[in-house]
Amino acid sequence: MMTRKTGHIALVGAGPGARDLLTLRALNRIQSADLVLFDRLVDPDIVELARDGAERIYVGKEVGRCAWPQGRIDRLIVAKAKLGLRVVRLKSGDPSVFGRACEEITAARAAGIEIEIVPGVTAASAAAASIARPLTERGETDSFVLTTGTARPGDAAPDRARLAHPGTSMAFYMAVQRAGEVQADLLAAGAPAACPVDIVERASTPTERHIATTLGQLAETIATQGVTNPAILFIRYPKSLAGALSDTPRGIFAA
Ligand code: SAH
Repeated sequence: MMTRKTGHIALVGAGPGARDLLTLRALNRIQSADLVLFDRLVDPDIVELARDGAERIYVGKEVGRCAWPQGRIDRLIVAKAKLGLRVVRLKSGDPSVFGRACEEITAARAAGIEIEIVPGVTAASAAAASIARPLTERGETDSFVLTTGTARPGDAAPDRARLAHPGTSMAFYMAVQRAGEVQADLLAAGAPAACPVDIVERASTPTERHIATTLGQLAETIATQGVTNPAILFIRYPKSLAGALSDTPRGIFAA
């Protein structure tokens, strides 16, 4: 085991699920770790890439609920790095996208410990690839927004009226339970009911599922199809729908 006076913390993007969507850099950090912390969305196959002697700790985080409070994770990674260990904190997708990386970066810096971020394939990229539908389409969508359906308890929901503009492609994370609210906000802000929606559940895993619908039918589709997390909701307001009515479904948009 390689120890140093001060250890090292790496926040490593584990990708959306499929092991072969891991980067070579992520693989390198996982294989040289003394300690690997991981949560619910990280595939056990990826954790298994750690060397035999490495300690593995499940910190079981779920959307809006933590088996381990964030502060406890922060304290543990700092304490272990101070012992000179190489700590890998595996995060699903890309650590910088809805990954609560700020807390861990701040904790490491406050303790004077070196921290490295290893980017990963975020769920929206994997989901777009699975359905062969690019995140941006020339002439139709020139802005791509990563956003969330879930705000921190007590925080206001994101301002969705800002998003309801022709040319906008949106990927909603953590939005299955809030789909009705997202739908109502976008329609109220003038987005046409015919905006195409693609729901991708468990992208890149063997149980992946794709459902195509429209903004006007979104909440109903989620309920009737029994959509569950993790899922990405892609909502597109293409330029060709500018001026379409917000409350009259015009059928499914075909691109
Ligand atoms: N850092 C992660 C996102 C964590 S937030 C990333 O970059 O992908 C958790 C949300 O990510 C889930 O609620 C879901 O919206 C999305 N997600 C994560 N993995 C997914 C997958 N395999 N398929 C679809 N959505 C996924």
